[in-house]
Amino acid sequence: AELDTLDIIVLSVILLGTLAYFTKGKLWGIVKDPYGGSFQNNNGAKAGKTRNIAEMLEESNKNCIIFYGSQTGTAEDYASRLAKEGKSRFGLETMVADLEDFDFDSLDSVPSDKVVMFVLATYGEGEPTDNAVEFFEFVTAEDAQFTQGADVPLGNLTYVGFGLGNNTYEHYNLMIRAVDKALQRHGATRVGEAGEGDDGAGTMEEDFLAWKDPMWAALAEKMGLEEREAVYEPIFSLTPSETLSVDSPEVYLGEPNKMHLEGTAKGPFNAHNPYIAPIVESHELFTVKDRNCLHIEVDISGSNMPYQTGDHLAVWPTNAGAEVDRFLSVLGLTDKRNTVLTVKALDPTAKVPFPAPTTYDAIVRYHMEICGPVSRQFLATLAAFAPDEETKAEMAKLGGDKDYFHEKINAHHLNIAGVLESVGKGKKWTNIPFSAFVEGINKLQPRYYSISSSSLVQPQKISITAVVESQVIPGRADAFHGVATNYLYALKQKQNGDPNPTVFGQTYEITGPRNKYDGIHVPVHIRHSNFKLPSDPSKPIICIGPGTGVAPFRAFLQERAKQATDGENVGETLLFFGCRKSTEDFLYKDEWEEYKKAMGDNFELITAFSREGAKKVYVQHRLKERAEQVNKLLEAKAYIYVCGDAANMAREVNSVLAQILASQRGISEAKGEEIVKNMRASNQYQEDVW
Ligand code: FAD
Repeated sequence: AELDTLDIIVLSVILLGTLAYFTKGKLWGIVKDPYGGSFQNNNGAKAGKTRNIAEMLEESNKNCIIFYGSQTGTAEDYASRLAKEGKSRFGLETMVADLEDFDFDSLDSVPSDKVVMFVLATYGEGEPTDNAVEFFEFVTAEDAQFTQGADVPLGNLTYVGFGLGNNTYEHYNLMIRAVDKALQRHGATRVGEAGEGDDGAGTMEEDFLAWKDPMWAALAEKMGLEEREAVYEPIFSLTPSETLSVDSPEVYLGEPNKMHLEGTAKGPFNAHNPYIAPIVESHELFTVKDRNCLHIEVDISGSNMPYQTGDHLAVWPTNAGAEVDRFLSVLGLTDKRNTVLTVKALDPTAKVPFPAPTTYDAIVRYHMEICGPVSRQFLATLAAFAPDEETKAEMAKLGGDKDYFHEKINAHHLNIAGVLESVGKGKKWTNIPFSAFVEGINKLQPRYYSISSSSLVQPQKISITAVVESQVIPGRADAFHGVATNYLYALKQKQNGDPNPTVFGQTYEITGPRNKYDGIHVPVHIRHSNFKLPSDPSKPIICIGPGTGVAPFRAFLQERAKQATDGENVGETLLFFGCRKSTEDFLYKDEWEEYKKAMGDNFELITAFSREGAKKVYVQHRLKERAEQVNKLLEAKAYIYVCGDAANMAREVNSVLAQILASQRGISEAKGEEIVKNMRASNQYQEDVW
């Protein structure tokens, strides 16, 4: 029989669905965001840009393009810094580019007197960042087809590479290593080393700084560049508007994009377009006074933004009011905080990182990571604008001396305003062009939280489990407080009846720009993850999640308990949970008993309380005690999941597992490790770690 239109539509939907299933949504994981370019449009950059790299360089008169593959903004920041330095020290005509905005079959047309740089973060389990997926798949393919089809397609290409990774993960810096290898295979010439920064060792910034100087020397030699006295040139102009005031409806006061400004926010909600979600439930999970852990539930029923058990919720935070005040004050901008600014990129290839026209207050409160760690290189840049010679010398010293910088700045967790206050001894820094901050400080990043609810049980209500970041820093009067978790803490206080919550002396503009978040809302989006239950619930699972690492396992248990109640055949479920004391930070203590009722002997909770016995006991010790049971389950093809601390716990669990396999199966530890590796490769072993 012939297919009618309806059949074709139905078949197409099934086909697309199947494709989505088998590619895990990868093909459209990076859905092009229709509003992503809206800032640019605001700022007059030309639309319909070419995706051909050589053409772009030609059209914009550049001889150096710096691509970033960035998830949390660091790689993007390094790319901007290389662009600045190339221009100011060597007179290179540089531009920064998002990998997502170009087609890489055009790499073979880049002439040999130009240079292409790659700053590439490796994300999670050796994965490309969302914006680098297509690039990575293209260049590393055996049979990559470049435009001109030459035998040695990249024989003309000169490139530079730096990777951002974390040595606590199995595939350390896989992105830069694989891309470097692929480019060489295609005949390209690398200048300098392929640098590798290590977040795991906490040396990312220093690794970058140590790598870039020899790279610049090699590049200067290769391209015949002459070094000159670096002079700061702003990339953005911020001009007070003569016609607009803070009350003008077209002025952004922190709204994330045009639709939010105009009150027409609609989906798709994603990393460029948050959903302003109502908080419908929130409470404290710890029973001690000095530490806090929040259980927060947001209602997503109005968003058409489905989630799946195991996904992450991204929370868009707001900086604390006192930090905003401090930052504006040290720059002498307090009185101008509500001045409306029009913002233009002076270089057409640069993107203004927030929507404009806007105010200093909105930029600092909603768009800049003003509380984050300070970059040493940035201090060196700011030295030129110091209020006096003594301050200038001190800034130059901090910028130039790694150990001194660490001792004075990093060890105290100072943020940029804290540095300027302390180095300037209270003087105002009124000479710094504001563009230097727009360029030198990261965009305020959403924070991710492993969703702790099951989409089967509560499809319209997402819960997260977040421990409030608060650290006593030796030698510092006040404690350090994390940005997002303290903002969430304030929201929780308000949701529980405190109209003007102050947490640790801080307040937040929790009603949002123009009070649009009033009624207790928080901007969020969902990030899909591959951390997923087996599709067949009868498969056994082993979950290891101490502390807030238990978050996704609460979701898993919710789901399996529901399946069991519904009469499905649910496999054995082991959960290893650890915390300090059963009376203090035992998360969801009562809920586990409910799940036990639903699942009976098919659920066992195994606890490790590190501060209750004479010896510290952690989840990995408990895992080892259960060697025989764990091995049997793995033989029955159990899935194993690890969530939480990447630096220590996840690594230890990995090696304990190899030891268990070795001892139980009478094989060498090396063989045990290999089996674990294969389990990871086949998704039988999944991690959600941070
Ligand atoms: P931030 O302000 O971001 O500070 C975090 C840390 O950065 C500080 O502790 C400090 O070490 C460093 N830092 C910040 N500023 C400075 C400075 N000026 N100087 C020196 N160091 C500084 N967390 C949970 O609680 N529950 C979860 O379920 C969860 N799931 C996650 C899932 C994923 C995939 C990822 C990537 C992370 C997850 N996290 C989770 C962690 C979470 O995203 C946040 O990192 C955490 O809540 C801290 O955020 P914050 O804004 O409060 O702290």
